[in-house]
Amino acid sequence: MKIKKERLMKFFSEQLLTISTLAGVVLGVIFGLILRASSSSKWSSREIMYFNFLGELFLRMLKGLILPLVISSLIAAIGTLNFKATGRIGGRAITYYLITTFMAVILGIILVLTVRPGIDRHKKNSTESVHTTSSQLRTITTTDAMLDLVRNMFPPNIIQACIEQYQTVLKPPSANASNDNIDEWNIGHTYGNGMNIIGLVVSACVFGIAMSTLHGSVNTVLGIVTEVSALMMKITSWVIFVSPIGIFFLTVSQVAEMDDLNVVAGKLGLYLITVIGGIVFHGFVILPIIYYAFTRKNPYTFIMGMGPAIVTAFGTGSSSATLPMTIQCIEERNKVNPQISRFMLPIGATINMDGTALYEAVAAIFIAQLRGIELSFGKVVAVSITSTAAAIGAAGIPQAGLVTLVMVLDAVGLPPEDVSLILAVDWILDRVRTVVNVLGDCLGAGIVDHMSQKDLIVPPINPQENAANASASGSYEIVTVPATKET
Ligand code: ASP
Repeated sequence: MKIKKERLMKFFSEQLLTISTLAGVVLGVIFGLILRASSSSKWSSREIMYFNFLGELFLRMLKGLILPLVISSLIAAIGTLNFKATGRIGGRAITYYLITTFMAVILGIILVLTVRPGIDRHKKNSTESVHTTSSQLRTITTTDAMLDLVRNMFPPNIIQACIEQYQTVLKPPSANASNDNIDEWNIGHTYGNGMNIIGLVVSACVFGIAMSTLHGSVNTVLGIVTEVSALMMKITSWVIFVSPIGIFFLTVSQVAEMDDLNVVAGKLGLYLITVIGGIVFHGFVILPIIYYAFTRKNPYTFIMGMGPAIVTAFGTGSSSATLPMTIQCIEERNKVNPQISRFMLPIGATINMDGTALYEAVAAIFIAQLRGIELSFGKVVAVSITSTAAAIGAAGIPQAGLVTLVMVLDAVGLPPEDVSLILAVDWILDRVRTVVNVLGDCLGAGIVDHMSQKDLIVPPINPQENAANASASGSYEIVTVPATKET
């Protein structure tokens, strides 16, 4: 009995952070519902802004960590690997990303074609609201979106990449010309929409590779980035400490401001269930099976370890903002080697989005069903390819998937305005897909970590661990971080 109690206490103390962040969400929902019930009219945006203030501060802190943490960690991780090992680990990571993303898309397509949420079962309901309010969506083609992604990988100005990114802009040739043939539209570009994370990630990788090929002759720089990365991890742990409060306020304001949930009845409700069911099945059944198949370790213990990051992904709807927490949790709680986690997670947060991929496929086919468009096999294949591309191209920020959905709609001949058909429930789906986007990155890092043990011949890049390890064994001959080893 006593042993059981002790075990229970141990479990609770280990999971305290997960439990408190989860409590942040649950209490946030309850408090948000109380707020809704306590006012007969809708809360004004100013009032919502006040409710959200502490949540906003939390989000700002997380976002502030991204740049210094990602850059320093990536350079330090790759800089301490040898070139061949980087290639092998990178190859495994990309293979995992592509295969799992495509599996998510296929699952989504099978589900939406089986459940058929957009098909009229009772003809009399056929006038379901179809708003085609003009949204602020850009018209982009799949090719342009992919080319933009590649362009952004090579930022001409690294400072600019910290603030903005390149976007192709298409404009109709003249106001009264026919807008049907997009090939005749004028091509321009603009810079905007936040930090160019993919550009920074690629630049940091190149920097790290250059460092590793110079074999020890740039140890001062490597020592500096390694120490900056350790500092950023320390600051991250402080932010994690306040995460339950931040998550609580983010949830309260979201629940207080959301539209009435009765719009979720009917087809939209079925669509919601299809997407959530698919995403949850992919994230909590398929990916864990893959993890188990490669590592023979319990995937759910691993997922429990990622608890705070998963709840934060749900609370913020942003893989990028969650990144500092993801890195911290995977290293501290799941003991994944920092060389793998700091290499794979920033890349994964920008390109590996299983939840988004599944959602894109289901959403496009659902809209086609609503519009009564029969999709040929060829079109379904086009949806699967463009959904994968759209998920890779989506940024790790709230509702980025909704923007890249335009590409998938384009593939089945639907106008961009049709995204308004699913707008009402997108914020919920965004949070759920962000959870699985983050989870997919983590399980992938766990798998690659397991497979890459032989490639990781240098000690961990955490300076404190280095010092401890070095003094414990006295035997790290190939240490490439002298600044920290000397301590
Ligand atoms: N919010 C998602 C993420 O950050 C992207 C999306 O909109 O699907 O991972």
